Amino acid sequence: MTIQPIRTYHSIDSSGSLLSAPPELLERQMQHLAARGFQSLTVSEVAAFLKREKIGLERRIALTFDDGCRSVPEAAFPVLRRYGFRATRFAVSDFCGSENSWDRGNWRIPRLSLLRGDELGKFAAAGWKTGSHKATHARLTKLDDDALEHELQESRRFLREACGTPVRCPACPCGARDARVRRRARAIFDAGCTTGLGHARGTSDPVALQRVDPYYLRVPGLFRGIESGWMGSCLRLRRLLRKVHAL
Ligand SMILES: [Zn+2]
Repeated sequence: MTIQPIRTYHSIDSSGSLLSAPPELLERQMQHLAARGFQSLTVSEVAAFLKREKIGLERRIALTFDDGCRSVPEAAFPVLRRYGFRATRFAVSDFCGSENSWDRGNWRIPRLSLLRGDELGKFAAAGWKTGSHKATHARLTKLDDDALEHELQESRRFLREACGTPVRCPACPCGARDARVRRRARAIFDAGCTTGLGHARGTSDPVALQRVDPYYLRVPGLFRGIESGWMGSCLRLRRLLRKVHAL
């Protein structure tokens, strides 16, 4: 059974960048979901649901915010709170309180201010969860065993201490994972996400649940398609285009 897509956001701002969703778009999307009776799950709850494979959980959605952007508490938290939604944020531990300078050199990625470690735990009381987007946002498949362990364990330890809450979910930067990364991630975490475009399913790897980036959902008709089956075809086409682009 397909659960409604896990949604990926990064920054909420009006710059029009690849990583930005305008505040008014987020407002419209949350308004639409609330009007349709959607409720939000955390990523761990999605993974637990998919494991149990129970039916009757339509109209559930998981909202995720990658990189730990400062714009999220300022522009997203009040909107989600207004509609009764929670979210999972994936933070990059070595860059907390700094900028997303791991993307330096990519002219399409804007400089974004990131939250400090002590700021990350502030929304735990509202049901928001913090997950690990690793220590340095490195592509995990390119690291040796020691560096991989640092990215997984050290990031988790830092975020757990900073937030004062368990950190149960990772999101692999750039979706990079192979058998070795998956094995280590499964040994440490309960659930997690990838940037792989698609719907999380019962057959999905629980630490690499697929997501949909609202960059692909700016057109209102496409956004509404999350409730219907035809969106699967749209995502397959997008995946194909991504592959062609990467050649
Ligand atoms: Zn990222």
